[in-house]
Amino acid sequence: MAQLSDDCFAFGGPMMSVDEAVGIITARVTPVQEIETASLLDADGRVLARDIVAPLPLPPFTNSAVDGYAVRSSDLSQSQEKRKEEQGKEEQALPVTGRAQAGGAAQAAQAGHAVRIFTGAPMPQGTDTVFMQEDVRIDESGRVVLPPGLKAGANVRPAGEDVALGHVALRAGERLKPQHIALAAAFGLTELPVMRRIRVAVFSTGDELASPGTSRAAAQLFDSNRFMLAAMLRRLGATVSDLGILRDERAPLARALRDAASAHDLLLTTGGVSTGEEDHVKAGVESVGSLVLWRMAIKPGRPVAMGIISGTPFIGLPGNPVASFVTFVHVVRPAVLALSGAVQRRLVPVPVRAAFSYKKKAGRREYVRVSLHNGADGALEAVKFPREGAGLLSSLVDTDGLVELGEDVTKVEPGMRVGFLGYENLI
Ligand code: AMP
Ligand code: MG
Repeated sequence: MAQLSDDCFAFGGPMMSVDEAVGIITARVTPVQEIETASLLDADGRVLARDIVAPLPLPPFTNSAVDGYAVRSSDLSQSQEKRKEEQGKEEQALPVTGRAQAGGAAQAAQAGHAVRIFTGAPMPQGTDTVFMQEDVRIDESGRVVLPPGLKAGANVRPAGEDVALGHVALRAGERLKPQHIALAAAFGLTELPVMRRIRVAVFSTGDELASPGTSRAAAQLFDSNRFMLAAMLRRLGATVSDLGILRDERAPLARALRDAASAHDLLLTTGGVSTGEEDHVKAGVESVGSLVLWRMAIKPGRPVAMGIISGTPFIGLPGNPVASFVTFVHVVRPAVLALSGAVQRRLVPVPVRAAFSYKKKAGRREYVRVSLHNGADGALEAVKFPREGAGLLSSLVDTDGLVELGEDVTKVEPGMRVGFLGYENLI
């Protein structure tokens, strides 16, 4: 496991901006080192461990992009030479000799002849241009009648036009998506070097929580955060240990975290990080490791706890489900990506039109839950969820994503352009 120093997450400032938080996490977390291989069928979502250099050009050979007739452009220009005054304005007929099919070996073409060719077939030797079958006709003597004006090289896919031999086609740190896997397959690879999955221990904290499937006392609610966080972590490629609910009691909480530290790359809790009397995470972590409370300039979200227990990073998220979700995106996500050896890509909000009014304080970043609709003119509009509570799980279910309001913004009015982050891009 990666070993971090006790003061790794210490922060001197009074309020931490989201960018500062991401900066500290990415700079101070050590990625896992172990590399394993994943077959292409199991590579989706894994983090590529090494650059992949193209072992062959793509396409590997020059081939036809269409069904049609392959010709030598020099045959066309010669005949055009003969009729200078009408250059490029007249049809031209060529005898058809040979047939090139996809998967068939390349054959040589006779000068002055066209070759019947199909999409993906190697270009017959000597030919360099393909007329689409829709653009030609066959005359009574079986010759193909070619229209004037086609450029030399048309409808041909030259070898290497997609990827040149030796090009760094995939970069280490890439979180593999279907298109990356397709490229590896096109190179003939069967497996890829990937970083091992990070192991994350997840706990909920709170006497008011009951696990789904157990009986719930009248003043209890079923634990939802643990399942949300586990699902988000899995989507980020982590292996999750579900370690249940910790009661609001310092010593057992501390023991459970310490016991989990050696077998995990990250310890994650939700709840109990405020400074109330029943918030025992701070004292618990401090008894077995070190902890700092990050007061983040973000809403929804309360203090997020960062710490180290036996060299393993610890993150304590707030208990309110929406605060837990939003702080996961801005603190846990970068930490998981950094630990996994993945390249951090900035989340880029997409501009949409606000269909709501909103007031906020300058100096902190806010995330407003919105649904996307098409306005009267067809443009995308963000409609705000009618209520704002950080405990409203339905607000995350009934909306499409978050509008990000930067530190400088103090109000939103209908018609303003705002940045939208869809939930599917956040994890
Ligand atoms: P806390 O951060 O512990 O003060 O919790 C804040 C609010 O979030 C309280 O109303 C809790 O009941 C609620 N909460 C805490 N943990 C969870 C959880 N795992 N699932 C659902 N709600 C929770
Ligand atoms: Mg609590």
